[in-house]
Amino acid sequence: MSHTLSTLAYLVASILFILALKGLSHPSTSRRGNLMGMVGMGIAILATLAVPGMRLGGIGLILSGLLIGGTIGAVIARRIQMTSLPQLVAAFHSLVGLAAVFVAASALYAPQSFGIGVPGDIHAQSLVEMSLGLAIGAITFSGSVIAFAKLDGRMSGAPILFKGQHMLNAALGVLLLLLIAVFVATGGPAWLFWLIALLSFGLGFLLIIPIGGADMPVVVSMLNSYSGWAAAGIGFTIGNLLLIVTGALVGASGAILSYIMCKGMNRSILNVLLGGFGAEAGGAPAGGGAAQPARPVKSGSPEDAAYIMKNAGKVIIVPGYGMAVAQAQQVVREMADLLKKEGATVEYAIHPVAGRMPGHMNVLLAEANVPYDEVHELEEINPEFAEADVAYVIGANDVTNPAAKTDKASPIYGMPILDVDRAKTVFFVKRGMSSGYAGVENELFFRDNTMMLFGDAKKVTQQIVQALQK
Ligand code: NDP
Repeated sequence: MSHTLSTLAYLVASILFILALKGLSHPSTSRRGNLMGMVGMGIAILATLAVPGMRLGGIGLILSGLLIGGTIGAVIARRIQMTSLPQLVAAFHSLVGLAAVFVAASALYAPQSFGIGVPGDIHAQSLVEMSLGLAIGAITFSGSVIAFAKLDGRMSGAPILFKGQHMLNAALGVLLLLLIAVFVATGGPAWLFWLIALLSFGLGFLLIIPIGGADMPVVVSMLNSYSGWAAAGIGFTIGNLLLIVTGALVGASGAILSYIMCKGMNRSILNVLLGGFGAEAGGAPAGGGAAQPARPVKSGSPEDAAYIMKNAGKVIIVPGYGMAVAQAQQVVREMADLLKKEGATVEYAIHPVAGRMPGHMNVLLAEANVPYDEVHELEEINPEFAEADVAYVIGANDVTNPAAKTDKASPIYGMPILDVDRAKTVFFVKRGMSSGYAGVENELFFRDNTMMLFGDAKKVTQQIVQALQK
């Protein structure tokens, strides 16, 4: 393949990646978006294999990597639970970071292959790009490994804090920049390359340990962004247009996503990155053992709920993390269909940080073929709770907690919430009285217009469906 043709193929792949991102921005177009990304990646791989000067050995190596990596990836993708996706994404980011380190190393040891000089005499500009890609890649690697361990429960999600932590991190950051400057000024000695790598691995570790479990998804999104910038840096070093474009797309989209998540939780990105939130929660995911209620609550049976909902004119369903755990989305739709047959209007209210990853609830509802026009974002649905007869809160907790409005000391203070308490009756479907991810008690459980429906989200909803069918 000629140089012009391979550049053209890279350009087509880049356009397909941009269209993929556009498609992924809405559930109705996300399948198409995914397909475009896959076709783009296919073109990129073929164009790389056919790049001018590619040797047979190189093609063999790439194909072996594809076969081994592709098989492992396919097996993991088939087996993974939806609730474990955040840690899987963290694990995959660590590999992107490590790949950046390896590509930087190959550029250092075989610069002639990339036309950036000869060993010991590499162009200064390439050394800058290489060392930045190396440092960001190594930080992404060790940071993502810690994020994975925290999200997967392999280490405590509680922030690990010690005195002078931020000072130490700042000092190491300055030292890293100094080492990069010396690396470039001295022509890129290998020992300094590995010293930069070692320091960056350590810095990635130190930057992530003070961050609590509840903030980890934002951190994963930040690390996603870092991995993109690392790839773009390396793309400049080895003169690969596609790597630059893809890296920049990943870097920018990861940064935008982190911003959106922080906005949804009403936190500043700096506040997240400096750590501490989640200490109160112990960082443990919600859904642990059910604590005994300290105060009396009104609890009812699925039959009670079915009776009230059968007579309701408007029902708003509020899904949360517990619906994902119980995989109750399908039966929730069945319940909604029956209620609609009874003449009720049914809507779904989605909080931007419900569940454990952005768009978590939208994906689940789309999986259950819930019509998109029934699914509403927070600002859109909040005024409607006052007209609703029932708010059916299924496995959601923090996203409805009024402490976010009233308790300045609460870790969720300032987060916008779904105003479910304005509905005539509020049902909370959950297994016990446990708090949500932020570890804060929900005052709504004790309100007069609340009825607790204790049990697994799927089982309770199934029983409501049976009662509605009678
Ligand atoms: P929460 O974590 O607040 O609450 C989930 C509730 O589900 C728990 O109280 C639990 O109670 C219940 N539950 C668990 N398993 C089941 C089950 N099988 N059946 C029925 N109920 C169950 O979830 P929300 O969705 O309301 O809030 C999300 C939280 O995650 C927020 O604090 C948000 O800030 C945080 N977060 C979300 C991110 C995102 O991108 N979406 C990113 C970062 C943080 P019980 O144990 O009693 O059953």
